[in-house]
Amino acid sequence: MPSTTGFDPEILGLPFYGDEHRRLAQQINTWCESYGELWQTVRRTDPDEAGRRLVQLLGDEGWLMSLDPTTGPHDLPSDTRALCLARETLAYTEDLADFAYSIQSLAATPIIRYGDEDQKKTYLPGMADGSIIGAFAVSELEAGSEVSAVGLSARRFHDGGYVLDGRKAWIANATIADLIVVIARTGDGPGPLGLTAFLVPVDTPGVRVSERLNAIAPRSFGHLSFEHCHVPAEAVLGRPGQGLVIALDLLERFRMTVGAAAVGFARRAADAALVHTRDRDAYGGKLFDLQLVKSSLADIQIRLNAASLLVARAAWECDRGDRGFAKHSNIAKVYATEAAQNVVDASVQLFGAAGLVEGSITERLYRQIRSLRIYEGASDVLRISIAETLDMRRGTHGG
Ligand SMILES: Cc1cc2nc3c(=O)[nH]c(=O)nc-3n(C[C@H](O)[C@H](O)[C@H](O)COP(=O)(O)OP(=O)(O)OC[C@H]3O[C@@H](n4cnc5c(N)ncnc54)[C@H](O)[C@@H]3O)c2cc1C
Repeated sequence: MPSTTGFDPEILGLPFYGDEHRRLAQQINTWCESYGELWQTVRRTDPDEAGRRLVQLLGDEGWLMSLDPTTGPHDLPSDTRALCLARETLAYTEDLADFAYSIQSLAATPIIRYGDEDQKKTYLPGMADGSIIGAFAVSELEAGSEVSAVGLSARRFHDGGYVLDGRKAWIANATIADLIVVIARTGDGPGPLGLTAFLVPVDTPGVRVSERLNAIAPRSFGHLSFEHCHVPAEAVLGRPGQGLVIALDLLERFRMTVGAAAVGFARRAADAALVHTRDRDAYGGKLFDLQLVKSSLADIQIRLNAASLLVARAAWECDRGDRGFAKHSNIAKVYATEAAQNVVDASVQLFGAAGLVEGSITERLYRQIRSLRIYEGASDVLRISIAETLDMRRGTHGG
């Protein structure tokens, strides 16, 4: 039977998860189902308006509550497994809902982990209730995969503050954000050690959207410009020179959640393909009866299971505090996003021409899945990181 939920109840039953995670998955799934018509509406809405509306809705209904740890205790878990399950279920339901949830979490997490008390008090309550929309800006046209090449400069000002000059590229929520976490070059140390993170409200003079971009799957997306943008010393997040650590720590924690979103998209495609092949008349029977169709559906299930398990393992490693979790996060992201691309493509194939019609579920998923193999670490780059964790000298082959 198709799962018709963003998660696999059998995998959720494994010891990677606790009862609190199972409750969360059920609750967010029920919530997604209760807003059925909204998902249709937001797809027809301008992406900026849809983004604002969804962050506000998620905040109003408590799904962003964990972004303000001072409001605890919460009755739902706020760990990495919870983030993954929420993304899996939201992505299954609607790409824009996952986007709103994930970018808000991405922007708030460095404040939760590295912010001082004032910064937390100033920003986290608004990020948790949806009234402050966040963005996280590290990429530049000249510095994408190579994070340490960031060039946007932050020069010390005589009043102890900084002046930011430069550009950021490909930023999610660029056109709707109220607050941007910016990684800039202060030169406090050589090369990668010369980066610092800043909290920059968008109403700071000198900050502007330099270009709005239409992404393959519509969303708030664009390039940002910072011109003589003066921020006080209190805008530094963490310590001067800690910017690369903050950026890498965040990306390592979020990569497996990108894998989780990929699983959500893939599971939606798999469910649609199963329903279609059982329904479609072919050769005096149903499409499903053909051996090669069954083989394709079986491969989809194999990939989905493997991807879900890798995501669950990586999130579990992170939550239990294993310092080696980053490798598992990279493995989960590479496998789940590549497998999901494959699953969505196989589903389009099983639908035939109907799978390519604009607005159909498979056409939407085909566009939505593509960027996941690029952002927060392109598959090729992560493969190199995974290979670097292998100590070839300790290999078992060659005696
Ligand atoms: C939808 C979307 C949302 C995004 N949101 C954000 C955001 O909110 N904030 C932000 O800061 N950035 C964001 N980005 C930018 C994203 O992080 C970068 O696109 C990504 O890091 C890759 O950088 P690049 O595009 O410059 O590609 P490049 O770095 O130019 O790489 C291009 C390709 O070259 C290959 N390659 C690069 N390096 C290596 C290597 N070492 N070994 C082997 N192959 C390699 C890979 O195939 C890679 O895909 C977003 C991107 C997308 C598509």
